[in-house]
Amino acid sequence: MVALKFSGPVLPDGESRELYVVDGRVTYERQPGAETAATGWIVPGLVDAHCHIGLGADGAVPAEVAEQQAVADRDGGALLLRDCGSPLDTRWVQEREDLPRLIRAARHIARTRRYMRNYAEEVEPAGLAAAVAEQAQRGDGWVKLVGDWIDRDAGDLLPSFPAEDFAAAIKVAHDHGAKVTAHCFSHDVLPGLIEAGIDCIEHGTGLTPDLVEPMAEKGIALVPTVLQTAIFPDLAAQALPKFPDYAATMTDLHRRRRDAIMSAFEAGVALYAGSDGGGNQRHGILHEEVLALHAIGLPAEVALGAASWRAREWLGWNAGLGEGDPADFVVYAADPLADLSVLARPAAVVLRGNVVA
Ligand SMILES: [Zn+2]
Repeated sequence: MVALKFSGPVLPDGESRELYVVDGRVTYERQPGAETAATGWIVPGLVDAHCHIGLGADGAVPAEVAEQQAVADRDGGALLLRDCGSPLDTRWVQEREDLPRLIRAARHIARTRRYMRNYAEEVEPAGLAAAVAEQAQRGDGWVKLVGDWIDRDAGDLLPSFPAEDFAAAIKVAHDHGAKVTAHCFSHDVLPGLIEAGIDCIEHGTGLTPDLVEPMAEKGIALVPTVLQTAIFPDLAAQALPKFPDYAATMTDLHRRRRDAIMSAFEAGVALYAGSDGGGNQRHGILHEEVLALHAIGLPAEVALGAASWRAREWLGWNAGLGEGDPADFVVYAADPLADLSVLARPAAVVLRGNVVA
């Protein structure tokens, strides 16, 4: 197999190097006869920390659509995906050399009739622990809970389960060796989850200054999905005629979301980039989420690190591109830290040592 040669500044430190790929791995040892593949800024493979492979607007999609979703993510440079819940069994993706590496949370767990139809395993509080144990065994070390959703009887956004049931569920997952994350829009669901030692919060629009300190202390991460929370005004407008209280809650959360994210960042909470591709959002738009994180106030280095080296390390992969590391990286013609919009146009995408896009 011919070695491939890439040259340019290697992020995160930005030192200019000649990087070779041999047998799917990175080496900095000169390889005589290597074929020059690309030149530019070399970024460790991007991470979409919140997406859904195999999920569409109405639930599970056919396998060929799931494949297209994974290819779209890959071609955008996302080479490691943390799937935050899918009704489709996508273990086959992990057998495919040409598709991104995939860490699955198996299927969402929600309260009965309190989530999008056909998405989740739906249970009452008495069945929560057993559902968590089952999904913990099906997934790749993560369990996804739907922390809150509209309660149509109450007409407002409410926690899906009592705090003590959430706490018991988190303990069950941890006993099974799985981490727990939860979809959380509201404030009210958060204190109990944080107290119980959840591992990550998705969306997190209800975060307040009193909650971000314990979050940072406990090492609880935040995936703010800025593109997804940007649609709150649309959700509020749709709901207004029937559920005015819910509409008011969503409008208020949208108004406060920038403060929520920035207070978490300022408190030292680890933030990661998630496109939420698969439900309402398209796949292959992680670069837009990075731009959105920057637009909301995160420095460019923090926004890109949240979608690359820091997220890789969080999920147990190589953060940077060291000697012998898996050759998963993206090459750009210009410096993404100087202008994040170059992330929309990868010059080369290298997955497992192969130039795939
Ligand atoms: Zn999602």
